[in-house]
Amino acid sequence: MVGMWFTEDQTQHLLISVRITDILHTEKTPYQQLVVVDTVEFGKMLVLDGAIQCTEKDEFFYHEMIAHVPMHVHPNPKRVCVIGGGDGGTVREVVKHPLVTEVKHVEIDGAVIEAAKKYFPTLSSGLADPRVEIVIADGIEYIKNAEAGSFDVIIIDSTDPVGPAVGLFSAEFYGYCHRALTDDGVICAQTESPLFEKDLLIKCWNNMKVHFSNVGVALGFAPSYPGGLWTYTVGSKQLPVQKNREVQIEGRYFKNSIMEAAFDTPQFLQEVLASGQK
Ligand code: SAM
Repeated sequence: MVGMWFTEDQTQHLLISVRITDILHTEKTPYQQLVVVDTVEFGKMLVLDGAIQCTEKDEFFYHEMIAHVPMHVHPNPKRVCVIGGGDGGTVREVVKHPLVTEVKHVEIDGAVIEAAKKYFPTLSSGLADPRVEIVIADGIEYIKNAEAGSFDVIIIDSTDPVGPAVGLFSAEFYGYCHRALTDDGVICAQTESPLFEKDLLIKCWNNMKVHFSNVGVALGFAPSYPGGLWTYTVGSKQLPVQKNREVQIEGRYFKNSIMEAAFDTPQFLQEVLASGQK
């Protein structure tokens, strides 16, 4: 066991290796290879198709940012849709908001939700909230067919752009989201590393600008993801992309000062975005 390592090789020219103590679960689902391992440094870790999705130790950085940033750009978020996010971490953060009346959680792969319930109870805890309805479906089809104006906030907590997640990064899909949002609706998508996947970030930023009047990129830590620094691209139909209400949630990472500065883009990120300006 001492010599067992998991190595992620999803990013060109970059490997991430984590010492593991146990392989708890392996399964070929209809959509992906699902693995749960126990590690020395990160606790339990969920891996899909060879890519680290979340770990017990550092998941809060990612889930607090992807949920609470858009939930504070919207002044009154009541109806929320989470696409992907089968581990449950994003829904757990969304249901901390007392204003929320309903959460549609649309995950394509029910096996991820089952694995999260079994191995990651601290992440999946929010799925039992009575305001949450779990829908096992393709998020693209679901949003395409959703009634116009049915959500205040849509959060896209997707895997990397491979397989069924490819379309979740497209301008076409952001257009469906625009239609499914209310007039002051807000969208937030995880858009990967600003250092190692900058072309993807630029693509998402441009794709979102096709439909949303205001678009901003928030940065946060994600220690177990390539580069340790992650982006969340937020689009708004009419409101400025900024803190638009008092911060009510203090997490282990997220707090008022983080929200105040969320869109205060550092110079390097301005350069990345300017390089792809259309
Ligand atoms: N935080 C993670 C990351 O950045 O890598 C993402 C975690 S979450 C486990 C990603 C989920 O998106 C997976 O469970 C996957 O099944 C789901 N997913 C991928 N494509 C989807 C689609 N088209 N519709 C709904 N869910 C999708």
